[in-house]
Amino acid sequence: ARKGKTPEEVVKKYLQKVKSPPEEDCTICMEPLGGPSGYKGPGVGPVSRAESVGRLAQCGHQYHFQCLVAMYNNGNKDGSLQCPTCKTIYGVKTGNQPAGKMEYHVIPHSLPGHPDCKTIRIIYNVPPGLQGPEHPNPGKPFTARGFPRHCYLPDSERGRKVLRLLLVAWDRRLIFSVGTSSTTGESDTVIWNEVHHKTEFGSNLTGHGFPDPGHLDNVLEELRAQGIIEDDGLM
Ligand code: NAD
Ligand code: ZN
Ligand code: ZN
Repeated sequence: ARKGKTPEEVVKKYLQKVKSPPEEDCTICMEPLGGPSGYKGPGVGPVSRAESVGRLAQCGHQYHFQCLVAMYNNGNKDGSLQCPTCKTIYGVKTGNQPAGKMEYHVIPHSLPGHPDCKTIRIIYNVPPGLQGPEHPNPGKPFTARGFPRHCYLPDSERGRKVLRLLLVAWDRRLIFSVGTSSTTGESDTVIWNEVHHKTEFGSNLTGHGFPDPGHLDNVLEELRAQGIIEDDGLM
């Protein structure tokens, strides 16, 4: 969290003032933008009169100021804000991935569908621990199943680009999260976040293997949705 900046100050930084709100509903609270915010969550005081509406500076989407503050307070308060409509990111988005290790090396074998290059193997290791304030159940333990998890990329120019961006995603705590596994149904456990990985090497029995011609493009798109891009014209 950014020291010294209140949630209101963070949100304000990304907003332009709106003099006359459009006759539309705020898509955060579903109430008219011309009236008060419908958000009644913790930390939002009583609303007395027509209040301010803000326009997000880059994408132009408009919301009640209080709704944006409430949304920010519901997240991990890292100084960034993501437009709930178009997903434009303001600031640098970070996640709540628990502590752990990411390593990688090249192995001298080719992946199905990538016969002309070797393979990058990424090894993630995340041990179990206690949930912090940024997790669903602070103070409660979380489990970590199936680690170390091994993941594969072709050692091609594009594969190496994905690796570079995954390293950024790791630093921003966006590779894993803590929550309920959709595979096992277990709660309070380490789960993959929004960026897909290939965990099967020579076959595709799980659907998380090769060949998959769209994989690198998909991952680049998923990374972009997390605010992680590399402007080298390869996209
Ligand atoms: P999840 O099931 O909540 O799924 C989150 C995302 O990860 C989804 O997009 C899903 O498609 C993807 N995903 C699911 N299984 C994957 C896999 N094997 N390889 C690559 N992507 C996968 O997330 P989760 O609980 O972190 O993923 C489940 C996977 O975790 C299992 O398939 C297994 O690899 C591992 N796991 C192992 C054990 C164990 O005891 N060995 C236990 C639980 C989970
Ligand atoms: Zn609203
Ligand atoms: Zn937007």
